[in-house]
Amino acid sequence: MTDLIRLSAAALADKLAAGEVSSVEATRAHLDRIADVDGDVHAFLHVSANALDVAADIDRRRAAGEALGVLAGVPLAIKDVLVTTDMPSTSGSKILEGYMSPFDATVVARSRAAGLVPLGKTNMDEFAMGSSTEHSAYGPTHNPWDFDRIPGGSGGGSAAAVAAFEAPLALGSDTGGSIRQPAHVTGTVGLKPTYGGVSRYGAIALASSLDQVGPVTRTVLDAGLLHDVIGGHDPHDSTSLAEAWPSFAEAAREGARGDVLKGLRLGVISELPDSGFQPGVSASFRSALAVMEAHGAEIVEISAPHFEYGVAAYYLVLPAEASSNLAKFDSVRFGLRVMPHANATVEDVMAATRDAGFGDEVKRRIILGTYALSAGYYDAYYGSAQKVRTLIQRDFDAAFTQVDVIATPSAPTTAFRLGEKIDDPLQMYLNDVTTIPANLAGVPGISIPSGLAEEDGLPVGIQFLAPAREDARLYRVGAALEAALVDSWGGPLLDRAPVLGAKGGVR
Ligand code: GLN
Repeated sequence: MTDLIRLSAAALADKLAAGEVSSVEATRAHLDRIADVDGDVHAFLHVSANALDVAADIDRRRAAGEALGVLAGVPLAIKDVLVTTDMPSTSGSKILEGYMSPFDATVVARSRAAGLVPLGKTNMDEFAMGSSTEHSAYGPTHNPWDFDRIPGGSGGGSAAAVAAFEAPLALGSDTGGSIRQPAHVTGTVGLKPTYGGVSRYGAIALASSLDQVGPVTRTVLDAGLLHDVIGGHDPHDSTSLAEAWPSFAEAAREGARGDVLKGLRLGVISELPDSGFQPGVSASFRSALAVMEAHGAEIVEISAPHFEYGVAAYYLVLPAEASSNLAKFDSVRFGLRVMPHANATVEDVMAATRDAGFGDEVKRRIILGTYALSAGYYDAYYGSAQKVRTLIQRDFDAAFTQVDVIATPSAPTTAFRLGEKIDDPLQMYLNDVTTIPANLAGVPGISIPSGLAEEDGLPVGIQFLAPAREDARLYRVGAALEAALVDSWGGPLLDRAPVLGAKGGVR
Protein backbone atom coordinates (compact mmCIF):
# COMPACT_ATOMS: atom_id res chain seq x y z
CA MET A 1 0.00 0.00 0.00
CA THR A 2 3.03 2.27 0.39
CA ASP A 3 2.89 2.89 -3.34
CA LEU A 4 -0.69 4.11 -3.25
CA ILE A 5 0.09 6.77 -0.67
CA ARG A 6 3.06 8.03 -2.65
CA LEU A 7 1.12 8.64 -5.87
CA SER A 8 0.17 12.15 -6.85
CA ALA A 9 -3.58 12.78 -6.84
CA ALA A 10 -3.49 12.97 -10.64
CA ALA A 11 -1.78 9.58 -10.91
CA LEU A 12 -4.11 8.03 -8.34
CA ALA A 13 -7.13 9.44 -10.20
CA ASP A 14 -5.88 7.83 -13.42
CA LYS A 15 -5.56 4.45 -11.71
CA LEU A 16 -9.03 4.79 -10.21
CA ALA A 17 -10.51 5.70 -13.60
CA ALA A 18 -8.73 2.77 -15.26
CA GLY A 19 -10.08 0.39 -12.60
CA GLU A 20 -6.56 -0.59 -11.51
CA VAL A 21 -7.31 0.37 -7.94
CA SER A 22 -10.51 1.01 -6.00
CA SER A 23 -11.28 4.03 -3.89
CA VAL A 24 -11.69 1.72 -0.90
CA GLU A 25 -8.10 0.48 -1.40
CA ALA A 26 -6.76 4.01 -1.81
CA THR A 27 -8.70 5.29 1.19
CA ARG A 28 -7.67 2.35 3.37
CA ALA A 29 -4.01 2.89 2.44
CA HIS A 30 -4.24 6.49 3.64
CA LEU A 31 -6.15 5.58 6.82
CA ASP A 32 -3.46 2.97 7.57
CA ARG A 33 -0.80 5.57 7.01
CA ILE A 34 -2.58 7.94 9.39
CA ALA A 35 -2.77 5.17 11.99
CA ASP A 36 0.97 4.49 11.53
CA VAL A 37 2.40 7.98 11.62
CA ASP A 38 -0.10 10.50 12.94
CA GLY A 39 0.82 9.76 16.53
CA ASP A 40 4.12 11.43 15.67
CA VAL A 41 2.90 14.03 13.17
CA HIS A 42 -0.45 15.01 14.73
CA ALA A 43 -1.74 16.45 11.46
CA PHE A 44 -5.33 15.39 12.18
CA LEU A 45 -7.74 16.58 14.86
CA HIS A 46 -10.39 14.17 13.68
CA VAL A 47 -10.31 11.17 11.35
CA SER A 48 -13.54 10.44 9.51
CA ALA A 49 -15.42 7.33 10.65
CA ASN A 50 -17.21 6.94 7.33
CA ALA A 51 -14.41 7.49 4.80
CA LEU A 52 -14.47 3.84 3.73
CA ASP A 53 -18.25 3.94 3.24
CA VAL A 54 -17.94 7.05 1.09
CA ALA A 55 -15.19 5.37 -0.90
CA ALA A 56 -17.28 2.21 -1.35
CA ASP A 57 -20.13 4.32 -2.65
CA ILE A 58 -17.84 5.93 -5.24
CA ASP A 59 -16.63 2.47 -6.30
CA ARG A 60 -20.23 1.30 -6.67
CA ARG A 61 -21.17 4.32 -8.75
CA ARG A 62 -18.12 3.86 -10.96
CA ALA A 63 -18.94 0.19 -11.44
CA ALA A 64 -22.48 1.18 -12.41
CA GLY A 65 -21.06 3.30 -15.21
CA GLU A 66 -21.87 6.68 -13.70
CA ALA A 67 -19.86 9.62 -15.06
CA LEU A 68 -17.72 10.75 -12.14
CA GLY A 69 -15.48 13.77 -11.58
CA VAL A 70 -11.78 13.58 -12.42
CA LEU A 71 -10.80 13.29 -8.75
CA ALA A 72 -13.59 10.89 -7.76
CA GLY A 73 -12.38 8.39 -5.19
CA VAL A 74 -9.28 10.37 -4.21
CA PRO A 75 -8.93 11.05 -0.45
CA LEU A 76 -8.88 14.62 0.84
CA ALA A 77 -7.82 16.20 4.15
CA ILE A 78 -9.80 19.25 5.27
CA LYS A 79 -8.50 22.09 7.42
CA ASP A 80 -10.64 22.36 10.53
CA VAL A 81 -11.53 25.98 9.69
CA LEU A 82 -13.99 24.57 7.13
CA VAL A 83 -17.32 23.43 8.52
CA THR A 84 -18.54 19.89 7.87
CA THR A 85 -21.81 18.20 8.77
CA ASP A 86 -20.34 14.77 9.52
CA MET A 87 -17.27 15.73 11.54
CA PRO A 88 -16.66 18.30 14.29
CA SER A 89 -15.40 21.74 13.26
CA THR A 90 -13.29 23.48 15.90
CA SER A 91 -11.04 25.94 14.05
CA GLY A 92 -8.37 24.76 16.49
CA SER A 93 -10.21 26.35 19.43
CA LYS A 94 -11.53 25.03 22.74
CA ILE A 95 -14.51 27.32 22.37
CA LEU A 96 -15.79 25.13 19.51
CA GLU A 97 -14.77 21.74 20.93
CA GLY A 98 -17.14 19.12 19.52
CA TYR A 99 -19.13 21.67 17.50
CA MET A 100 -21.16 20.10 14.68
CA SER A 101 -22.17 22.36 11.81
CA PRO A 102 -25.64 22.09 10.31
CA PHE A 103 -24.20 22.68 6.83
CA ASP A 104 -21.07 21.99 4.77
CA ALA A 105 -18.75 24.77 3.63
CA THR A 106 -19.22 25.30 -0.11
CA VAL A 107 -15.71 23.98 -0.84
CA VAL A 108 -16.52 20.84 1.15
CA ALA A 109 -19.88 20.37 -0.58
CA ARG A 110 -18.18 20.77 -3.97
CA SER A 111 -15.44 18.31 -3.00
CA ARG A 112 -18.05 15.75 -1.98
CA ALA A 113 -20.03 16.34 -5.17
CA ALA A 114 -16.84 15.73 -7.17
CA GLY A 115 -16.45 12.37 -5.42
CA LEU A 116 -13.47 13.26 -3.23
CA VAL A 117 -13.33 11.21 -0.03
CA PRO A 118 -12.92 13.31 3.15
CA LEU A 119 -10.36 11.62 5.42
CA GLY A 120 -10.59 14.00 8.35
CA LYS A 121 -10.05 17.47 9.73
CA THR A 122 -6.56 18.89 10.07
CA ASN A 123 -4.89 20.77 12.88
CA MET A 124 -4.38 24.51 12.79
CA ASP A 125 -3.52 27.52 14.90
CA GLU A 126 -6.59 28.62 16.83
CA PHE A 127 -8.88 30.53 14.44
CA ALA A 128 -5.99 30.48 11.94
CA MET A 129 -3.89 32.90 13.98
CA GLY A 130 -0.26 31.88 13.76
CA SER A 131 2.61 30.64 11.64
CA SER A 132 3.51 27.42 13.44
CA THR A 133 0.33 25.53 14.47
CA GLU A 134 1.58 25.86 18.06
CA HIS A 135 -1.42 28.04 18.88
CA SER A 136 -3.78 25.09 18.34
CA ALA A 137 -5.76 24.36 21.49
CA TYR A 138 -5.17 20.67 20.72
CA GLY A 139 -1.37 20.62 20.69
CA PRO A 140 1.08 21.28 17.86
CA THR A 141 1.62 19.43 14.60
CA HIS A 142 5.15 18.21 13.86
CA ASN A 143 7.01 18.78 10.61
CA PRO A 144 7.48 15.47 8.75
CA TRP A 145 11.02 16.58 7.82
CA ASP A 146 12.00 16.89 11.49
CA PHE A 147 9.55 16.25 14.31
CA ASP A 148 11.19 18.90 16.49
CA ARG A 149 10.26 21.59 13.99
CA ILE A 150 7.11 23.50 13.16
CA PRO A 151 5.05 22.54 10.08
CA GLY A 152 4.15 26.20 9.46
CA GLY A 153 0.85 27.80 10.20
CA SER A 154 -1.86 28.31 10.50
CA GLY A 155 -2.52 25.34 8.20
CA GLY A 156 0.32 23.17 9.49
CA GLY A 157 -1.95 20.14 9.74
CA SER A 158 -2.95 20.18 6.08
CA ALA A 159 0.63 20.69 4.89
CA ALA A 160 2.05 18.02 7.22
CA ALA A 161 -0.67 15.53 6.20
CA VAL A 162 0.25 15.96 2.55
CA ALA A 163 4.03 15.96 3.19
CA ALA A 164 3.78 12.80 5.36
CA PHE A 165 1.74 10.99 2.67
CA GLU A 166 -1.30 10.80 4.95
CA ALA A 167 -3.37 12.48 2.24
CA PRO A 168 -2.66 13.27 -1.42
CA LEU A 169 -4.68 16.49 -1.28
CA ALA A 170 -5.73 18.97 1.39
CA LEU A 171 -7.77 22.11 1.71
CA GLY A 172 -6.29 25.11 3.48
CA SER A 173 -7.10 28.75 4.12
CA ASP A 174 -4.80 31.71 3.71
CA THR A 175 -5.37 35.06 5.41
CA GLY A 176 -1.76 36.19 5.50
CA GLY A 177 0.15 33.13 4.31
CA SER A 178 -1.41 30.09 6.01
CA ILE A 179 -1.38 28.01 2.83
CA ARG A 180 1.90 29.23 1.33
CA GLN A 181 4.13 29.40 4.43
CA PRO A 182 3.31 25.81 5.57
CA ALA A 183 3.94 24.68 1.98
CA HIS A 184 7.34 26.41 2.13
CA VAL A 185 8.45 24.66 5.33
CA THR A 186 7.16 21.20 4.39
CA GLY A 187 8.26 20.93 0.74
CA THR A 188 4.71 21.00 -0.60
CA VAL A 189 2.69 23.16 -3.01
CA GLY A 190 0.12 25.71 -1.80
CA LEU A 191 -1.90 28.29 -3.65
CA LYS A 192 -3.92 31.23 -2.38
CA PRO A 193 -6.46 32.11 -5.06
CA THR A 194 -7.47 35.59 -6.15
CA TYR A 195 -9.74 37.07 -3.47
CA GLY A 196 -13.26 36.03 -4.47
CA GLY A 197 -12.10 33.15 -6.63
CA VAL A 198 -13.05 30.46 -4.10
CA SER A 199 -16.08 30.62 -1.80
CA ARG A 200 -15.58 31.57 1.85
CA TYR A 201 -19.05 30.26 2.77
CA GLY A 202 -18.56 27.92 5.69
CA ALA A 203 -14.92 28.94 6.24
CA ILE A 204 -14.94 30.10 9.87
CA ALA A 205 -13.96 33.74 9.39
CA LEU A 206 -10.69 35.17 10.65
CA ALA A 207 -10.47 38.40 8.63
CA SER A 208 -13.13 38.45 5.95
CA SER A 209 -11.40 40.86 3.58
CA LEU A 210 -8.23 38.73 3.57
CA ASP A 211 -9.37 35.07 3.90
CA GLN A 212 -9.23 32.72 0.92
CA VAL A 213 -9.54 28.94 0.73
CA GLY A 214 -7.13 27.04 -1.50
CA PRO A 215 -5.36 23.76 -2.31
CA VAL A 216 -2.39 22.16 -0.50
CA THR A 217 -0.77 19.37 -2.53
CA ARG A 218 2.49 17.71 -3.57
CA THR A 219 2.41 18.86 -7.21
CA VAL A 220 1.24 21.93 -9.09
CA LEU A 221 -1.05 19.83 -11.29
CA ASP A 222 -2.76 18.38 -8.20
CA ALA A 223 -3.35 21.90 -6.90
CA GLY A 224 -4.94 22.84 -10.22
CA LEU A 225 -7.18 19.77 -10.17
CA LEU A 226 -8.44 20.57 -6.66
CA HIS A 227 -8.83 24.28 -7.45
CA ASP A 228 -11.01 23.34 -10.45
CA VAL A 229 -13.30 21.45 -8.05
CA ILE A 230 -13.64 24.09 -5.32
CA GLY A 231 -13.46 27.34 -7.29
CA GLY A 232 -16.01 29.48 -9.08
CA HIS A 233 -18.97 31.63 -8.22
CA ASP A 234 -20.99 30.92 -5.09
CA PRO A 235 -24.15 32.93 -4.45
CA HIS A 236 -23.70 32.23 -0.70
CA ASP A 237 -20.56 34.43 -0.62
CA SER A 238 -21.23 38.07 -1.44
CA THR A 239 -17.56 38.64 -2.34
CA SER A 240 -17.46 35.71 -4.76
CA LEU A 241 -16.46 36.76 -8.28
CA ALA A 242 -19.06 36.05 -10.93
CA GLU A 243 -16.80 35.18 -13.81
CA ALA A 244 -16.03 31.83 -15.40
CA TRP A 245 -12.50 30.57 -14.68
CA PRO A 246 -10.27 28.62 -17.02
CA SER A 247 -9.22 25.09 -16.05
CA PHE A 248 -6.27 25.40 -13.68
CA ALA A 249 -5.32 21.76 -14.23
CA GLU A 250 -5.06 22.51 -17.95
CA ALA A 251 -2.90 25.55 -17.17
CA ALA A 252 -0.60 23.35 -15.06
CA ARG A 253 -0.34 20.79 -17.86
CA GLU A 254 0.47 23.53 -20.34
CA GLY A 255 3.18 24.81 -18.02
CA ALA A 256 4.74 21.40 -17.57
CA ARG A 257 5.03 20.66 -21.29
CA GLY A 258 5.23 24.09 -22.86
CA ASP A 259 7.83 26.74 -23.14
CA VAL A 260 6.08 29.19 -20.84
CA LEU A 261 9.27 30.46 -19.23
CA LYS A 262 10.63 31.73 -22.54
CA GLY A 263 10.17 35.49 -22.60
CA LEU A 264 8.43 35.51 -19.20
CA ARG A 265 9.02 38.82 -17.45
CA LEU A 266 9.82 37.84 -13.88
CA GLY A 267 9.79 40.63 -11.31
CA VAL A 268 12.12 40.63 -8.34
CA ILE A 269 11.46 43.25 -5.68
CA SER A 270 14.45 45.50 -5.13
CA GLU A 271 13.40 46.57 -1.62
CA LEU A 272 13.11 43.03 -0.24
CA PRO A 273 15.63 43.12 2.59
CA ASP A 274 18.29 40.48 2.00
CA SER A 275 19.28 40.72 5.64
CA GLY A 276 16.13 39.16 7.10
CA PHE A 277 16.48 36.03 5.00
CA GLN A 278 18.29 32.89 6.08
CA PRO A 279 21.28 32.42 3.72
CA GLY A 280 20.02 29.04 2.52
CA VAL A 281 16.63 30.54 1.68
CA SER A 282 18.19 33.35 -0.36
CA ALA A 283 20.53 30.89 -2.08
CA SER A 284 17.69 28.55 -3.02
CA PHE A 285 15.69 31.51 -4.33
CA ARG A 286 18.57 32.75 -6.46
CA SER A 287 19.24 29.30 -7.89
CA ALA A 288 15.57 28.91 -8.83
CA LEU A 289 15.75 32.28 -10.59
CA ALA A 290 18.85 31.09 -12.45
CA VAL A 291 16.99 27.98 -13.62
CA MET A 292 14.17 30.16 -14.89
CA GLU A 293 16.60 32.48 -16.62
CA ALA A 294 18.25 29.48 -18.27
CA HIS A 295 14.81 28.57 -19.61
CA GLY A 296 14.39 32.00 -21.15
CA ALA A 297 12.79 34.10 -18.40
CA GLU A 298 13.88 37.69 -18.14
CA ILE A 299 14.55 38.90 -14.59
CA VAL A 300 13.31 42.45 -14.09
CA GLU A 301 14.00 44.42 -10.94
CA ILE A 302 10.85 46.15 -9.76
CA SER A 303 10.08 48.52 -6.96
CA ALA A 304 7.38 47.86 -4.35
CA PRO A 305 8.23 50.53 -1.79
CA HIS A 306 5.23 49.86 0.45
CA PHE A 307 5.69 46.11 0.86
CA GLU A 308 7.73 46.67 3.98
CA TYR A 309 4.69 48.19 5.70
CA GLY A 310 2.55 45.16 4.88
CA VAL A 311 3.04 43.34 8.19
CA ALA A 312 2.27 46.50 10.18
CA ALA A 313 -0.89 47.23 8.19
CA TYR A 314 -1.96 43.58 8.34
CA TYR A 315 -1.68 43.47 12.14
CA LEU A 316 -4.20 46.31 12.35
CA VAL A 317 -6.62 45.21 9.63
CA LEU A 318 -6.61 41.57 10.73
CA PRO A 319 -7.19 42.06 14.47
CA ALA A 320 -9.89 44.65 13.71
CA GLU A 321 -11.81 42.24 11.51
CA ALA A 322 -11.07 39.27 13.78
CA SER A 323 -12.33 41.06 16.89
CA SER A 324 -15.60 41.66 15.09
CA ASN A 325 -15.86 38.15 13.57
CA LEU A 326 -15.13 36.44 16.89
CA ALA A 327 -17.81 38.42 18.75
CA LYS A 328 -20.25 35.70 17.72
CA PHE A 329 -18.62 33.26 20.13
CA ASP A 330 -20.73 34.55 22.97
CA SER A 331 -21.58 31.33 24.87
CA VAL A 332 -25.15 31.55 23.60
CA ARG A 333 -25.07 30.50 19.98
CA PHE A 334 -22.06 28.18 19.62
CA GLY A 335 -20.00 25.69 21.52
CA LEU A 336 -18.64 26.17 24.99
CA ARG A 337 -20.61 27.70 27.88
CA VAL A 338 -18.97 28.29 31.25
CA MET A 339 -21.13 29.14 34.29
CA PRO A 340 -18.78 31.00 36.67
CA HIS A 341 -21.26 30.84 39.60
CA ALA A 342 -24.93 30.20 40.29
CA ASN A 343 -26.07 33.83 40.06
CA ALA A 344 -24.08 34.71 36.98
CA THR A 345 -25.53 37.31 34.60
CA VAL A 346 -25.33 36.79 30.85
CA GLU A 347 -22.30 39.09 30.78
CA ASP A 348 -20.60 36.99 33.48
CA VAL A 349 -21.23 33.82 31.48
CA MET A 350 -19.98 35.42 28.28
CA ALA A 351 -16.81 36.70 29.94
CA ALA A 352 -16.08 33.40 31.69
CA THR A 353 -16.69 31.45 28.49
CA ARG A 354 -14.47 33.64 26.35
CA ASP A 355 -11.79 33.62 29.03
CA ALA A 356 -11.78 29.82 29.20
CA GLY A 357 -12.44 29.18 25.51
CA PHE A 358 -9.95 31.46 23.77
CA GLY A 359 -6.18 31.02 23.88
CA ASP A 360 -3.63 33.79 24.46
CA GLU A 361 -3.00 34.68 20.82
CA VAL A 362 -6.72 35.02 20.12
CA LYS A 363 -7.19 37.23 23.17
CA ARG A 364 -4.18 39.32 22.18
CA ARG A 365 -5.66 40.00 18.75
CA ILE A 366 -9.19 40.67 20.01
CA ILE A 367 -7.80 43.27 22.41
CA LEU A 368 -5.62 44.81 19.69
CA GLY A 369 -8.48 44.90 17.19
CA THR A 370 -11.01 46.31 19.61
CA TYR A 371 -8.54 49.06 20.51
CA ALA A 372 -7.75 49.84 16.86
CA LEU A 373 -11.44 50.20 16.09
CA SER A 374 -12.37 52.29 19.12
CA ALA A 375 -13.60 55.86 18.69
CA GLY A 376 -10.70 58.27 18.81
CA TYR A 377 -8.20 55.69 17.51
CA TYR A 378 -10.02 54.43 14.44
CA ASP A 379 -8.52 56.96 12.01
CA ALA A 380 -5.05 56.80 13.50
CA TYR A 381 -4.79 53.00 13.34
CA TYR A 382 -7.42 51.23 11.26
CA GLY A 383 -7.80 54.15 8.83
CA SER A 384 -4.05 54.46 8.32
CA ALA A 385 -3.71 50.73 7.80
CA GLN A 386 -6.36 50.83 5.09
CA LYS A 387 -4.45 53.63 3.36
CA VAL A 388 -1.27 51.55 3.43
CA ARG A 389 -3.29 48.70 1.97
CA THR A 390 -4.23 50.91 -0.97
CA LEU A 391 -0.58 51.89 -1.46
CA ILE A 392 0.41 48.21 -1.57
CA GLN A 393 -2.31 47.56 -4.14
CA ARG A 394 -0.89 50.42 -6.22
CA ASP A 395 2.62 48.95 -5.92
CA PHE A 396 1.24 45.73 -7.41
CA ASP A 397 -0.62 47.60 -10.17
CA ALA A 398 2.54 49.46 -11.14
CA ALA A 399 4.70 46.32 -10.98
CA PHE A 400 2.34 44.32 -13.17
CA THR A 401 2.65 46.89 -15.97
CA GLN A 402 6.31 45.81 -16.18
CA VAL A 403 6.27 42.09 -15.35
CA ASP A 404 4.07 39.03 -15.78
CA VAL A 405 4.70 37.55 -12.34
CA ILE A 406 6.62 38.57 -9.23
CA ALA A 407 8.90 36.12 -7.44
CA THR A 408 9.93 36.15 -3.77
CA PRO A 409 11.13 33.56 -1.28
CA SER A 410 7.92 32.20 0.30
CA ALA A 411 9.15 32.93 3.84
CA PRO A 412 12.36 34.26 5.44
CA THR A 413 13.53 31.06 7.15
CA THR A 414 13.15 27.30 6.96
CA ALA A 415 11.08 25.49 9.62
CA PHE A 416 12.13 26.77 13.03
CA ARG A 417 12.09 24.66 16.17
CA LEU A 418 8.90 24.10 18.12
CA GLY A 419 8.88 26.54 21.02
CA GLU A 420 11.43 28.87 19.43
CA LYS A 421 9.08 31.78 18.68
CA ILE A 422 5.99 31.00 20.70
CA ASP A 423 6.78 33.63 23.34
CA ASP A 424 7.75 36.28 20.83
CA PRO A 425 4.66 37.28 18.82
CA LEU A 426 6.54 39.83 16.74
CA GLN A 427 9.05 37.23 15.52
CA MET A 428 6.13 34.95 14.71
CA TYR A 429 4.38 37.74 12.76
CA LEU A 430 7.49 38.51 10.72
CA ASN A 431 7.34 35.06 9.14
CA ASP A 432 4.67 36.31 6.80
CA VAL A 433 6.53 39.32 5.47
CA THR A 434 6.50 38.02 1.88
CA THR A 435 3.05 36.38 1.89
CA ILE A 436 0.93 39.12 3.51
CA PRO A 437 1.03 41.68 0.65
CA ALA A 438 -0.94 39.31 -1.62
CA ASN A 439 -3.78 39.10 0.91
CA LEU A 440 -3.83 42.86 1.39
CA ALA A 441 -4.06 43.36 -2.38
CA GLY A 442 -6.32 40.36 -3.15
CA VAL A 443 -3.90 38.94 -5.73
CA PRO A 444 -3.16 35.21 -6.08
CA GLY A 445 0.05 33.59 -4.86
CA ILE A 446 1.59 30.13 -5.08
CA SER A 447 4.47 28.52 -3.18
CA ILE A 448 6.32 25.62 -4.74
CA PRO A 449 9.44 23.85 -3.44
CA SER A 450 12.67 25.40 -4.71
CA GLY A 451 15.11 23.09 -2.94
CA LEU A 452 16.76 22.49 0.41
CA ALA A 453 18.66 25.06 2.45
CA GLU A 454 22.31 24.17 2.60
CA GLU A 455 22.81 24.88 6.29
CA ASP A 456 19.97 22.70 7.65
CA GLY A 457 18.78 20.48 4.79
CA LEU A 458 15.21 21.73 5.20
CA PRO A 459 12.81 22.65 2.40
CA VAL A 460 12.51 26.12 0.92
CA GLY A 461 9.71 27.50 -1.24
CA ILE A 462 9.58 30.09 -3.97
CA GLN A 463 6.48 32.26 -4.20
CA PHE A 464 4.99 33.62 -7.42
CA LEU A 465 2.42 36.40 -7.44
CA ALA A 466 0.21 37.37 -10.38
CA PRO A 467 -2.40 40.06 -11.03
CA ALA A 468 -5.90 39.42 -9.65
CA ARG A 469 -7.83 36.88 -11.74
CA GLU A 470 -4.60 35.53 -13.30
CA ASP A 471 -4.37 32.41 -11.13
CA ALA A 472 -3.89 30.32 -14.29
CA ARG A 473 -0.61 32.14 -14.91
CA LEU A 474 0.67 30.88 -11.54
CA TYR A 475 -0.18 27.31 -12.48
CA ARG A 476 1.63 27.66 -15.81
CA VAL A 477 4.76 29.22 -14.33
CA GLY A 478 4.72 27.02 -11.21
CA ALA A 479 4.40 23.83 -13.23
CA ALA A 480 7.14 24.90 -15.62
CA LEU A 481 9.63 25.58 -12.82
CA GLU A 482 8.53 22.43 -10.97
CA ALA A 483 9.22 20.32 -14.06
CA ALA A 484 12.67 21.84 -14.49
CA LEU A 485 13.58 21.45 -10.80
CA VAL A 486 12.24 17.92 -10.30
CA ASP A 487 14.22 16.97 -13.38
CA SER A 488 17.40 18.45 -11.97
CA TRP A 489 16.82 16.76 -8.59
CA GLY A 490 16.14 13.40 -10.22
CA GLY A 491 12.76 13.14 -8.41
CA PRO A 492 10.42 15.02 -6.08
CA LEU A 493 11.92 16.91 -3.16
CA LEU A 494 9.78 14.98 -0.68
CA ASP A 495 11.64 11.79 -1.58
CA ARG A 496 14.47 13.29 0.42
CA ALA A 497 12.57 13.96 3.65
CA PRO A 498 14.65 12.00 6.17
CA VAL A 499 11.92 11.08 8.66
CA LEU A 500 8.80 10.11 6.78
CA GLY A 501 9.37 10.93 3.15
CA ALA A 502 12.34 8.66 2.44
CA LYS A 503 11.40 5.97 -0.06
CA GLY A 504 10.23 2.91 1.73
CA GLY A 505 7.91 5.04 3.76
CA VAL A 506 7.13 4.39 7.35
CA ARG A 507 9.87 4.75 9.94
N1 GLN B 1 0.47 33.82 10.18
C1 GLN B 1 -0.50 34.80 9.84
C2 GLN B 1 -1.28 35.20 11.05
O1 GLN B 1 -0.92 34.79 12.09
C3 GLN B 1 -1.39 34.29 8.75
C4 GLN B 1 -2.47 33.42 9.24
C5 GLN B 1 -3.37 32.95 8.14
O2 GLN B 1 -3.08 33.10 6.95
N2 GLN B 1 -4.51 32.42 8.54
O3 GLN B 1 -2.22 35.91 11.00
